[in-house]
Amino acid sequence: MQRRKFVTDSAKAAMGALAAGSLLSQTACSSSKQNSSSGKYYPQTPGMTQQPLPYEYKALEPAIDALTMEIHYTRHAAAYTKNMTEALAAEAPGISRLEDLFASMSKYSAKLRNNAGGHYNHESFWRWMAPGGKAMPASLQKIIEQQLSSVGDLRNKLNAAATSRFGSGWAWLVLDAQKKLQVGSTPNQDNPLMDLSELKGYPLLGIDVWEHAYYLKYQNKRADYLNAWWSLINWEEVNARYQFALGL
Ligand code: MN
Repeated sequence: MQRRKFVTDSAKAAMGALAAGSLLSQTACSSSKQNSSSGKYYPQTPGMTQQPLPYEYKALEPAIDALTMEIHYTRHAAAYTKNMTEALAAEAPGISRLEDLFASMSKYSAKLRNNAGGHYNHESFWRWMAPGGKAMPASLQKIIEQQLSSVGDLRNKLNAAATSRFGSGWAWLVLDAQKKLQVGSTPNQDNPLMDLSELKGYPLLGIDVWEHAYYLKYQNKRADYLNAWWSLINWEEVNARYQFALGL
């Protein structure tokens, strides 16, 4: 019995070491890739697979309840990734970066547009939130005050964009080609990187205003969801995207 347990434990330890080694080599590999492509692609931009949520389903409570998060991540978002993978294989097998796909989105099917947009938007959305939120860096606050008068004004503009979006879609803060902050919205799973989007720019922050994002807890009260959501914003991620987009 003792010996058997020892063997099992040793095997587990060896497996752990193997897993750690492979994780290390993956990390080294991905960071060298990021360095060689720095400039055009944001290092933390969504890849082609669904990543693990960076927190537990219940971690965003009370603003977003655990069941909404679980259904949103495991069903809605996972389906976008699955359907995107199918459509990419059929229509654009050579594309390896979503930024490149979005730049010529108008050439492809509605299936690829909806699902690649859905995948990118959700992978980003999970990282635009953090349990309890993450404070806005002072440098970003200064830029917002210079361009949009105040953080309160930005909040009002985002809320207005989100509440006036009819049906399903997203509200955005983007950095446009003139390096100015702009607020707007897109329908369905479109985003401001797509060549066919009316709102264009680099997405600094986006909020999902599909009913599946809030209906269990808030029903038809989208404004209440928006108010609660504000407390979850990861401003460090917004700032990192801003710094990247300035250099584009
Ligand atoms: Mn969603």
